[in-house]
Amino acid sequence: MGHLPLHPARKRLYCQSMLTQVGRCELDAASARRPHAVVIGSGFGGLAAAVRLGARGYRVTVLERLDQPGGRASVHRQDGFTFDAGPTIVTAPFMFEDLWRLCGSELSSDVDLRAVDPFYRLVFDDGESITCYADPAAMEAEIARVAPGDVAGYRRFMARSAEICRLGFEELGHVPFMSIGDLLRHAPQLLKLGGHRSVFGLVSQFVKDPKIRVALSFHPLFVGGNPFDTTAVYCLIAHLERRWGVHFAMGGTHALVKGLVGLIEGQGGSIRYRADVAKIVVEAGVAKGVRLASGETVAADIVVSNADAADTYRNLVPAEARKRWTDRKLDGAKYSMSLFVWYFGTRRRYPELEHHTILLGPRYKALIGDIFKGKALAEDMSLYLHRPTATDPSLAPPGCDAFYVLSPVPHLDASIDWATQAEPYRQAIEQRLSATIMPGLEHEVATSLVTTPQDFKDRYGSIKGAAFSLAPTLLQSAWFRPNNRSEDVQGLYLVGAGTQPGAGLPGVLSSARILDSLVPDVVPVV
Ligand SMILES: Cc1cc2nc3c(=O)[nH]c(=O)nc-3n(C[C@H](O)[C@H](O)[C@H](O)COP(=O)(O)OP(=O)(O)OC[C@H]3O[C@@H](n4cnc5c(N)ncnc54)[C@H](O)[C@@H]3O)c2cc1C
Repeated sequence: MGHLPLHPARKRLYCQSMLTQVGRCELDAASARRPHAVVIGSGFGGLAAAVRLGARGYRVTVLERLDQPGGRASVHRQDGFTFDAGPTIVTAPFMFEDLWRLCGSELSSDVDLRAVDPFYRLVFDDGESITCYADPAAMEAEIARVAPGDVAGYRRFMARSAEICRLGFEELGHVPFMSIGDLLRHAPQLLKLGGHRSVFGLVSQFVKDPKIRVALSFHPLFVGGNPFDTTAVYCLIAHLERRWGVHFAMGGTHALVKGLVGLIEGQGGSIRYRADVAKIVVEAGVAKGVRLASGETVAADIVVSNADAADTYRNLVPAEARKRWTDRKLDGAKYSMSLFVWYFGTRRRYPELEHHTILLGPRYKALIGDIFKGKALAEDMSLYLHRPTATDPSLAPPGCDAFYVLSPVPHLDASIDWATQAEPYRQAIEQRLSATIMPGLEHEVATSLVTTPQDFKDRYGSIKGAAFSLAPTLLQSAWFRPNNRSEDVQGLYLVGAGTQPGAGLPGVLSSARILDSLVPDVVPVV
């Protein structure tokens, strides 16, 4: 990965500031002359974009509608417990290290990232479990314990995952697919590796045991994809985890958000909260700035939207300025599933539980079908249970544990009335946990908070309350996904889960890296 040096203009300005008061005035004047980049939204994609633009010499203003940064990675604090709202599994730490280095700093001086091992434990409906380990030998031993006949196939699968990761992530993950030509150039390699298949389809070519198939194919759910429908390019995640590990930020993922905000402010950029962008101002096909809901207009030389990509086009860019991302096209798109998230703290600790547990119901394919086809809520839900206090006990009061449990559910097209269904569904989850891996849970809950698909819509502006924006299907990937440089409006750029390459922390950090290769250079200030 290439590292951009500090922009010469910034270095010179810094030296000037070391001189005299006169030098400081020059600095202010020079800073005001730098091109202005407005970033809408402070999710990881927006924050990473802001850091990269600041390092390029842009004067950066981030406009965030909420009262805190991070978007899906914001934080809830309640009754002495700290809950990361969303992402907790950090799989490519070097992508964060790159951002710190761009600012002449080290990630480790701001954030303590700890490797989590085992990565996670899958608990099946019949009580059997599979533990996924960082160590390849331990992992092979685990496969051999469950399905001795699949060890050779597992090895071959991991070799394929490594090839897909090299091509799909290391080589192409930061390459903009700006035309159908870009796509066609790389298509043969991707097809050769099985990219046209689904994740489950490719996994099934290598292993036979139904449980091992689940263990190797559930990852797309982490980025909003249906394993039976998501392009097998996402099989790269197995290798990504093995190669760079699974990490947790001490203090919670929000420590990374706080660190990035510090980098932006250190560059002279600013973040404004409760700044809700109502429109992107477009004149003669060119983005000129944004208008806030308050009526204020903020002028910009370039606008970068980290708001949901579909929402950006549907609601922020005027319809007359759009040729590709019309309302009709956006209405016909496939959106990812949503999530029901229950954050809770317990009066006692559960040392027998790993940091990450996946509790599977009796159905896999049929349940996923129900979720993605937008049917009613299932009673035999599968759950992902996060216990951050397994790694960082400071996130709960002494003797307590903090958790969140996440259940994939249909997005808002399913017409579930969350105002009335949230509490019964929370109770159903509580009962399921109590009946399986957390006996007596209902008597131990000290604090409780839920997020529903309606919150994803209301809080983050996500179309249909999708938790991961546009679904990562083959026909909504690469060039087919909203490009990072708008196809419709000059001077408008997009980063985040709904753009290329896709959702998840490595995906949205890559979108900011692609942006870096697309925005115009800043002419040094003299
Ligand atoms: C519960 C959950 C768990 C997850 N777990 C993981 C995980 O463990 N590992 C992983 O890699 N990924 C995980 N993900 C996925 C990952 O969190 C997301 O893909 C990623 O954080 C999205 O980042 P983003 O850049 O798209 O911005 P978002 O987080 O979507 O933020 C966008 C920001 O834009 C703001 N905004 C929107 N519209 C406007 C407007 N008009 N004006 C001003 N501001 C606006 C929003 O308020 C928000 O702050 C998880 C997601 C969820 C929901």
